[in-house]
Amino acid sequence: MRRGVRRTTDGGRPSRRRRPPARFLGIDIGGTKASAVVVDRTGRIRHRAGTVLHDRKDPPTVVARILRLVDAGLAARPGSVRAIGVGVAAQVDSRQGLVLHAGNLGWGRVALGPRIARHADRPVRLINDAMAATYGEWRVGAGRGARHVFGLSLGTGVGGGMIVDGRLALGSHGAFGEVGHMTIVSGGRPCTCGHRGCWEAYVGGWAVAERAREAVRAERRSGRLPVGFLDPRARQWTARQVFAAHRAGDPIARRVVRETLDHLANGAVGIANAFDPGLIVLVGGWIAGLPEAVERVRRAIRTSAQPTAARTRVRAGLLGEDAVAVGAALFARDGAVARAG
Ligand SMILES: [Zn+2]
Repeated sequence: MRRGVRRTTDGGRPSRRRRPPARFLGIDIGGTKASAVVVDRTGRIRHRAGTVLHDRKDPPTVVARILRLVDAGLAARPGSVRAIGVGVAAQVDSRQGLVLHAGNLGWGRVALGPRIARHADRPVRLINDAMAATYGEWRVGAGRGARHVFGLSLGTGVGGGMIVDGRLALGSHGAFGEVGHMTIVSGGRPCTCGHRGCWEAYVGGWAVAERAREAVRAERRSGRLPVGFLDPRARQWTARQVFAAHRAGDPIARRVVRETLDHLANGAVGIANAFDPGLIVLVGGWIAGLPEAVERVRRAIRTSAQPTAARTRVRAGLLGEDAVAVGAALFARDGAVARAG
Protein backbone atom coordinates (compact mmCIF):
# COMPACT_ATOMS: atom_id res chain seq x y z
CA MET A 1 0.00 0.00 0.00
CA ARG A 2 1.31 3.44 -0.88
CA ARG A 3 1.82 5.73 2.05
CA GLY A 4 -0.84 8.33 2.60
CA VAL A 5 -3.60 6.36 0.84
CA ARG A 6 -6.08 4.87 3.30
CA ARG A 7 -7.73 1.75 2.05
CA THR A 8 -10.14 -0.74 3.48
CA THR A 9 -8.97 -4.31 3.64
CA ASP A 10 -11.99 -5.65 1.76
CA GLY A 11 -13.09 -3.25 -0.93
CA GLY A 12 -10.01 -1.27 -1.82
CA ARG A 13 -11.93 1.98 -1.60
CA PRO A 14 -10.80 4.80 0.63
CA SER A 15 -12.21 4.31 4.12
CA ARG A 16 -14.83 6.63 5.54
CA ARG A 17 -13.35 8.08 8.68
CA ARG A 18 -16.49 8.27 10.74
CA ARG A 19 -17.92 4.87 9.97
CA PRO A 20 -19.31 3.50 13.26
CA PRO A 21 -17.59 0.43 14.70
CA ALA A 22 -18.86 -2.91 13.41
CA ARG A 23 -21.27 -4.81 15.61
CA PHE A 24 -22.95 -8.19 15.21
CA LEU A 25 -26.28 -9.19 16.69
CA GLY A 26 -26.63 -12.71 18.09
CA ILE A 27 -29.99 -14.22 19.01
CA ASP A 28 -30.51 -17.36 21.09
CA ILE A 29 -33.93 -18.93 20.54
CA GLY A 30 -34.62 -21.71 23.03
CA GLY A 31 -37.74 -23.67 23.85
CA THR A 32 -38.97 -21.28 26.55
CA LYS A 33 -37.34 -17.92 25.78
CA ALA A 34 -35.20 -15.94 23.37
CA SER A 35 -32.45 -13.46 24.15
CA ALA A 36 -30.11 -11.29 22.14
CA VAL A 37 -26.71 -9.65 22.51
CA VAL A 38 -24.68 -7.26 20.41
CA VAL A 39 -20.96 -8.07 20.16
CA ASP A 40 -18.00 -6.29 18.62
CA ARG A 41 -15.54 -7.85 16.17
CA THR A 42 -13.70 -9.62 18.99
CA GLY A 43 -16.85 -11.26 20.34
CA ARG A 44 -17.05 -9.02 23.39
CA ILE A 45 -20.62 -8.30 24.48
CA ARG A 46 -21.31 -4.58 24.08
CA HIS A 47 -25.03 -4.57 24.67
CA ARG A 48 -27.80 -6.88 25.86
CA ALA A 49 -30.88 -6.41 23.72
CA GLY A 50 -33.17 -8.25 26.14
CA THR A 51 -35.08 -11.48 26.65
CA VAL A 52 -38.58 -12.50 25.63
CA LEU A 53 -40.50 -15.46 27.03
CA HIS A 54 -42.46 -17.81 24.80
CA ASP A 55 -45.68 -17.83 26.79
CA ARG A 56 -47.27 -18.51 23.40
CA LYS A 57 -45.29 -20.61 20.97
CA ASP A 58 -47.10 -20.13 17.65
CA PRO A 59 -44.63 -18.87 15.00
CA PRO A 60 -46.31 -15.48 14.33
CA THR A 61 -46.25 -14.52 18.03
CA VAL A 62 -42.70 -15.73 18.66
CA VAL A 63 -41.37 -14.17 15.44
CA ALA A 64 -43.03 -10.82 16.25
CA ARG A 65 -41.29 -10.78 19.64
CA ILE A 66 -37.96 -11.75 18.12
CA LEU A 67 -38.27 -8.85 15.69
CA ARG A 68 -38.60 -6.56 18.72
CA LEU A 69 -35.32 -7.97 20.04
CA VAL A 70 -33.80 -7.31 16.62
CA ASP A 71 -35.00 -3.70 16.73
CA ALA A 72 -33.55 -3.28 20.21
CA GLY A 73 -30.21 -4.68 19.01
CA LEU A 74 -30.12 -2.49 15.90
CA ALA A 75 -30.80 0.59 18.01
CA ALA A 76 -27.82 -0.03 20.31
CA ARG A 77 -25.14 2.68 20.14
CA PRO A 78 -22.37 3.22 19.46
CA GLY A 79 -21.81 0.96 16.51
CA SER A 80 -23.61 -0.41 13.55
CA VAL A 81 -24.92 -3.96 13.28
CA ARG A 82 -23.50 -5.47 10.08
CA ALA A 83 -24.98 -8.97 10.30
CA ILE A 84 -27.30 -11.06 12.46
CA GLY A 85 -26.74 -14.62 13.67
CA VAL A 86 -29.55 -16.75 15.03
CA GLY A 87 -29.04 -19.95 17.04
CA VAL A 88 -32.25 -21.97 17.31
CA ALA A 89 -33.12 -25.05 19.35
CA ALA A 90 -34.16 -26.77 16.14
CA GLN A 91 -33.07 -28.61 13.07
CA VAL A 92 -32.30 -25.90 10.57
CA ASP A 93 -31.31 -25.50 6.95
CA SER A 94 -28.46 -23.03 7.41
CA ARG A 95 -28.01 -22.41 3.71
CA GLN A 96 -31.57 -21.20 3.22
CA GLY A 97 -32.17 -19.87 6.73
CA LEU A 98 -35.07 -22.23 7.43
CA VAL A 99 -36.19 -23.79 10.67
CA LEU A 100 -37.13 -27.33 9.61
CA HIS A 101 -38.34 -28.75 12.90
CA ALA A 102 -38.30 -27.29 16.42
CA GLY A 103 -39.66 -29.90 18.83
CA ASN A 104 -39.64 -27.72 21.96
CA LEU A 105 -41.45 -24.91 20.15
CA GLY A 106 -43.79 -27.24 18.30
CA TRP A 107 -42.74 -25.69 14.98
CA GLY A 108 -42.49 -27.30 11.59
CA ARG A 109 -40.97 -25.43 8.68
CA VAL A 110 -40.57 -21.67 9.32
CA ALA A 111 -38.64 -19.30 6.99
CA LEU A 112 -37.16 -17.43 9.94
CA GLY A 113 -33.90 -16.23 8.38
CA PRO A 114 -35.48 -14.48 5.37
CA ARG A 115 -38.13 -12.94 7.65
CA ILE A 116 -35.53 -11.35 9.94
CA ALA A 117 -33.37 -10.33 6.97
CA ARG A 118 -36.31 -8.51 5.34
CA HIS A 119 -37.19 -6.77 8.60
CA ALA A 120 -33.64 -5.73 9.50
CA ASP A 121 -32.21 -5.26 5.99
CA ARG A 122 -29.08 -7.12 7.12
CA PRO A 123 -27.60 -10.51 6.22
CA VAL A 124 -28.87 -13.23 8.57
CA ARG A 125 -27.24 -16.60 9.35
CA LEU A 126 -29.27 -19.29 11.05
CA ILE A 127 -27.82 -22.33 12.82
CA ASN A 128 -28.73 -24.95 15.37
CA ASP A 129 -28.16 -23.70 18.93
CA ALA A 130 -25.65 -26.38 19.94
CA MET A 131 -23.64 -25.58 16.81
CA ALA A 132 -23.78 -21.87 17.69
CA ALA A 133 -22.50 -22.56 21.22
CA THR A 134 -19.72 -24.73 19.83
CA TYR A 135 -18.77 -22.02 17.36
CA GLY A 136 -18.67 -19.38 20.10
CA GLU A 137 -16.51 -21.52 22.40
CA TRP A 138 -14.19 -22.27 19.50
CA ARG A 139 -13.83 -18.64 18.46
CA VAL A 140 -13.54 -16.88 21.81
CA GLY A 141 -14.01 -19.47 24.58
CA ALA A 142 -12.65 -22.79 25.85
CA GLY A 143 -11.87 -24.11 22.37
CA ARG A 144 -9.97 -21.10 21.11
CA GLY A 145 -7.03 -22.01 18.89
CA ALA A 146 -8.00 -25.68 18.52
CA ARG A 147 -8.21 -27.23 15.05
CA HIS A 148 -10.90 -29.72 16.07
CA VAL A 149 -13.48 -29.30 18.85
CA PHE A 150 -16.62 -31.19 19.76
CA GLY A 151 -19.07 -29.00 21.68
CA LEU A 152 -21.39 -31.13 23.78
CA SER A 153 -24.41 -29.05 24.72
CA LEU A 154 -26.11 -30.04 27.97
CA GLY A 155 -29.23 -28.07 28.71
CA THR A 156 -32.89 -28.91 28.71
CA GLY A 157 -32.00 -31.01 25.67
CA VAL A 158 -28.73 -32.58 24.58
CA GLY A 159 -27.03 -31.60 21.34
CA GLY A 160 -23.65 -31.13 19.79
CA GLY A 161 -21.61 -29.43 17.16
CA MET A 162 -18.14 -29.92 15.79
CA ILE A 163 -15.33 -27.90 14.36
CA VAL A 164 -13.43 -30.12 11.91
CA ASP A 165 -10.18 -28.83 10.46
CA GLY A 166 -11.00 -25.29 11.51
CA ARG A 167 -14.49 -25.19 10.06
CA LEU A 168 -17.95 -25.79 11.50
CA ALA A 169 -19.31 -29.07 10.17
CA LEU A 170 -22.91 -28.65 8.99
CA GLY A 171 -23.73 -32.11 7.65
CA SER A 172 -26.04 -32.68 4.71
CA HIS A 173 -29.05 -31.15 6.50
CA GLY A 174 -27.43 -28.77 8.99
CA ALA A 175 -27.77 -31.36 11.75
CA PHE A 176 -24.18 -32.56 12.22
CA GLY A 177 -23.44 -33.60 15.81
CA GLU A 178 -27.05 -34.14 16.87
CA VAL A 179 -26.05 -36.74 19.44
CA GLY A 180 -28.96 -36.38 21.88
CA HIS A 181 -31.17 -38.84 20.07
CA MET A 182 -28.79 -41.76 19.84
CA THR A 183 -30.50 -44.77 21.39
CA ILE A 184 -28.60 -45.88 24.48
CA VAL A 185 -31.31 -48.16 25.96
CA SER A 186 -33.37 -50.24 23.57
CA GLY A 187 -37.05 -49.74 24.49
CA GLY A 188 -35.96 -47.37 27.28
CA ARG A 189 -37.45 -44.15 28.60
CA PRO A 190 -39.73 -42.16 26.28
CA CYS A 191 -38.11 -39.12 24.68
CA THR A 192 -39.55 -35.80 23.50
CA CYS A 193 -38.68 -36.82 19.94
CA GLY A 194 -41.25 -39.63 20.03
CA HIS A 195 -38.73 -42.47 20.30
CA ARG A 196 -37.52 -44.39 23.31
CA GLY A 197 -34.21 -44.80 25.05
CA CYS A 198 -32.46 -41.72 23.62
CA TRP A 199 -29.38 -40.36 25.42
CA GLU A 200 -31.32 -37.13 26.03
CA ALA A 201 -34.07 -39.09 27.81
CA TYR A 202 -31.45 -39.84 30.52
CA VAL A 203 -29.20 -36.79 30.68
CA GLY A 204 -31.26 -33.90 29.27
CA GLY A 205 -32.34 -31.41 31.95
CA TRP A 206 -36.00 -32.35 31.56
CA ALA A 207 -35.11 -36.04 31.92
CA VAL A 208 -33.02 -35.49 35.07
CA ALA A 209 -35.99 -33.70 36.66
CA GLU A 210 -38.39 -36.42 35.54
CA ARG A 211 -36.22 -39.27 36.83
CA ALA A 212 -35.85 -37.52 40.21
CA ARG A 213 -39.59 -37.01 40.46
CA GLU A 214 -40.23 -40.69 39.71
CA ALA A 215 -37.63 -41.76 42.27
CA VAL A 216 -39.16 -39.57 44.96
CA ARG A 217 -42.64 -40.91 44.19
CA ALA A 218 -41.40 -44.50 44.29
CA GLU A 219 -39.80 -43.93 47.69
CA ARG A 220 -42.96 -42.28 48.90
CA ARG A 221 -45.13 -45.22 47.82
CA SER A 222 -42.77 -47.60 49.59
CA GLY A 223 -43.16 -45.56 52.80
CA ARG A 224 -39.38 -45.21 53.08
CA LEU A 225 -39.07 -41.61 51.97
CA PRO A 226 -35.85 -40.39 53.54
CA VAL A 227 -35.56 -36.91 54.95
CA GLY A 228 -34.47 -35.00 51.89
CA PHE A 229 -34.60 -31.73 50.05
CA LEU A 230 -36.75 -32.70 47.08
CA ASP A 231 -40.34 -31.74 47.67
CA PRO A 232 -42.63 -34.51 46.38
CA ARG A 233 -45.55 -32.05 46.19
CA ALA A 234 -43.72 -29.60 43.93
CA ARG A 235 -45.41 -29.07 40.58
CA GLN A 236 -42.43 -27.83 38.64
CA TRP A 237 -39.23 -29.82 38.78
CA THR A 238 -35.98 -28.71 37.21
CA ALA A 239 -32.55 -30.29 36.89
CA ARG A 240 -31.18 -27.26 38.71
CA GLN A 241 -33.24 -28.15 41.80
CA VAL A 242 -32.09 -31.76 41.62
CA PHE A 243 -28.44 -30.67 41.43
CA ALA A 244 -28.95 -28.28 44.38
CA ALA A 245 -30.54 -31.08 46.42
CA HIS A 246 -27.62 -33.33 45.47
CA ARG A 247 -25.17 -30.73 46.79
CA ALA A 248 -27.21 -30.45 49.98
CA GLY A 249 -26.96 -34.20 50.53
CA ASP A 250 -30.40 -35.42 49.48
CA PRO A 251 -29.99 -39.21 49.05
CA ILE A 252 -32.42 -39.55 46.13
CA ALA A 253 -30.90 -36.61 44.29
CA ARG A 254 -27.44 -38.08 44.85
CA ARG A 255 -28.51 -41.37 43.31
CA VAL A 256 -30.13 -39.67 40.32
CA VAL A 257 -27.05 -37.51 39.78
CA ARG A 258 -24.72 -40.54 40.01
CA GLU A 259 -26.75 -42.38 37.37
CA THR A 260 -26.90 -39.24 35.21
CA LEU A 261 -23.12 -38.83 35.34
CA ASP A 262 -22.67 -42.51 34.38
CA HIS A 263 -24.90 -42.03 31.32
CA LEU A 264 -23.17 -38.77 30.46
CA ALA A 265 -19.70 -40.30 30.75
CA ASN A 266 -20.60 -43.35 28.64
CA GLY A 267 -21.96 -41.17 25.85
CA ALA A 268 -18.96 -38.84 25.95
CA VAL A 269 -16.60 -41.83 25.59
CA GLY A 270 -18.56 -42.77 22.46
CA ILE A 271 -18.14 -39.24 21.08
CA ALA A 272 -14.39 -39.31 21.76
CA ASN A 273 -14.11 -42.68 20.00
CA ALA A 274 -16.33 -41.81 17.05
CA PHE A 275 -15.20 -38.27 16.22
CA ASP A 276 -11.59 -38.07 17.49
CA PRO A 277 -12.06 -34.39 18.37
CA GLY A 278 -8.97 -33.93 20.55
CA LEU A 279 -11.04 -31.56 22.70
CA ILE A 280 -14.58 -31.82 24.03
CA VAL A 281 -16.08 -28.65 25.48
CA LEU A 282 -19.11 -29.08 27.71
CA VAL A 283 -21.48 -26.16 27.18
CA GLY A 284 -24.93 -25.19 28.42
CA GLY A 285 -26.63 -24.25 31.66
CA TRP A 286 -26.48 -27.80 33.01
CA ILE A 287 -22.72 -27.66 33.67
CA ALA A 288 -22.99 -24.66 35.99
CA GLY A 289 -25.22 -26.73 38.28
CA LEU A 290 -22.97 -29.78 38.24
CA PRO A 291 -19.34 -28.75 37.69
CA GLU A 292 -18.03 -32.18 38.74
CA ALA A 293 -19.39 -33.51 35.44
CA VAL A 294 -16.25 -32.23 33.71
CA GLU A 295 -13.92 -34.35 35.82
CA ARG A 296 -16.25 -37.37 35.60
CA VAL A 297 -16.24 -37.21 31.77
CA ARG A 298 -12.48 -36.63 31.69
CA ARG A 299 -11.84 -39.71 33.84
CA ALA A 300 -14.19 -41.91 31.81
CA ILE A 301 -12.50 -40.96 28.55
CA ARG A 302 -9.04 -41.53 30.00
CA THR A 303 -9.92 -44.99 31.28
CA SER A 304 -12.50 -46.28 28.79
CA ALA A 305 -11.91 -44.71 25.37
CA GLN A 306 -9.81 -46.28 22.63
CA PRO A 307 -6.07 -45.59 23.10
CA THR A 308 -5.92 -42.59 20.74
CA ALA A 309 -9.22 -41.09 21.86
CA ALA A 310 -8.22 -41.52 25.52
CA ARG A 311 -6.02 -38.44 25.12
CA THR A 312 -9.08 -36.28 24.33
CA ARG A 313 -9.11 -33.22 26.57
CA VAL A 314 -12.32 -32.14 28.30
CA ARG A 315 -13.13 -28.59 29.36
CA ALA A 316 -16.12 -26.62 30.59
CA GLY A 317 -17.23 -23.81 28.30
CA LEU A 318 -16.24 -20.26 29.21
CA LEU A 319 -19.17 -18.35 27.73
CA GLY A 320 -21.87 -19.74 30.05
CA GLU A 321 -25.41 -18.89 29.10
CA ASP A 322 -24.25 -16.43 26.42
CA ALA A 323 -22.57 -19.14 24.33
CA VAL A 324 -25.40 -19.55 21.80
CA ALA A 325 -26.00 -15.83 21.23
CA VAL A 326 -22.29 -14.93 21.06
CA GLY A 327 -21.55 -17.94 18.83
CA ALA A 328 -24.40 -17.05 16.47
CA ALA A 329 -23.17 -13.45 16.25
CA LEU A 330 -19.63 -14.59 15.42
CA PHE A 331 -20.96 -17.10 12.91
CA ALA A 332 -22.68 -14.18 11.18
CA ARG A 333 -19.49 -12.14 11.44
CA ASP A 334 -17.50 -14.82 9.69
CA GLY A 335 -20.05 -15.48 6.97
CA ALA A 336 -19.26 -19.11 7.58
CA VAL A 337 -22.26 -20.47 5.69
CA ALA A 338 -21.32 -18.65 2.55
CA ARG A 339 -17.82 -20.11 2.75
CA ALA A 340 -19.06 -23.59 3.66
CA GLY A 341 -21.76 -23.61 0.98
ZN1 LIG B 1 -35.05 -38.65 21.36
